[in-house]
Amino acid sequence: MAANVPKTMKALRYEKPETFGIVEVPVPTLRDNDVLIKVKACGVCGTDLHIHEGEFLAKFPLIPGHETVGVVAAVGPKVKGFQIGDRVVADNSELCGECFYCRRGEELFCEHFEAHGVTMNGGFAEYCAYPAGRVFKIKNLSDVDATLLEPASCAAHGLDKIAPKMGSSVLVFGAGPTGLVLAQMLRQNGGCRVVVAAPEGLKMDLAKQLGAGDEYVALSRSNPEAQFQKLKAENPYGFDIVVEATGNAKILEDAINYVRRGGKLVVYGVYANKDRVSWSPSKIFGDEITILGSFSETYKFPAAIDYLDSGKVKVQGIVNKTFKLEQWAEALEAIRTKKAIKAAIVFD
Ligand SMILES: [Zn+2]
Ligand SMILES: [Zn+2]
Repeated sequence: MAANVPKTMKALRYEKPETFGIVEVPVPTLRDNDVLIKVKACGVCGTDLHIHEGEFLAKFPLIPGHETVGVVAAVGPKVKGFQIGDRVVADNSELCGECFYCRRGEELFCEHFEAHGVTMNGGFAEYCAYPAGRVFKIKNLSDVDATLLEPASCAAHGLDKIAPKMGSSVLVFGAGPTGLVLAQMLRQNGGCRVVVAAPEGLKMDLAKQLGAGDEYVALSRSNPEAQFQKLKAENPYGFDIVVEATGNAKILEDAINYVRRGGKLVVYGVYANKDRVSWSPSKIFGDEITILGSFSETYKFPAAIDYLDSGKVKVQGIVNKTFKLEQWAEALEAIRTKKAIKAAIVFD
């Protein structure tokens, strides 16, 4: 079953790190269980910057793009439940099902982990193909807002790992896309008082606009120290849950000082491999602090869609810059210079 699918398509392809071009390539051929998506929008995030530089498991040549939204253009012979024209979003990971971790139901750690846009061709192209089991229908979200479903799935996984108790007090450092989504999910799932602390500016303004928290601490860019001290003084018992979502190792190191005895510290940013933090083991021991990490997701797209497509978790305005495929260099620059809270490539 296929709509009018051409033989070739326009795509952004990297031959090797930092070497890319807009090229004409064949439209992907479908495996029996694949869905062909005509791409409408594909999100750009920090991971794409790492891929550009050749880090983060990337395999070349590569068509990147791992936050893909579009409409079904064709389906493989064994696909059921999709019609041409269905609006869909794709989960980029492909798991082997056979390795040490997959056999234990811990697919997130799959040893043969493949991901569209990272190790396989992804969504910065007019078409891309995904297994039907990794494709999900959406109704209400705009194409651009739906690019946030991938980061939102990671936030949903984070929520599962945190498993907040009802009535929790929460402190979130950082107001980037995943921080803004996780803060809202925490607020609706056990978090009674959610404080968002982030540098003053665009992201903080958006946090307030979306209602991401109950309280906000807009940190001065020149001298946040006084505000950090005030936050500690005003919350002498600390917080049940502290989420470090900035990726700044210095803030992570200090974040433990805001955790209530018996509380949880969530390591949720993207840190450089060389970063180190220094914590007192006797504090972790004596205060019974749980330190947990959360970096990706499996099987959380349905939950993320339920929250975002219903409008329970709000994302309008997080993608604040859109570009055409031909403007890839500008899109990368917007992410690099943080002019974009989040960017997306859009197609006609
Ligand atoms: Zn991403
Ligand atoms: Zn596996």
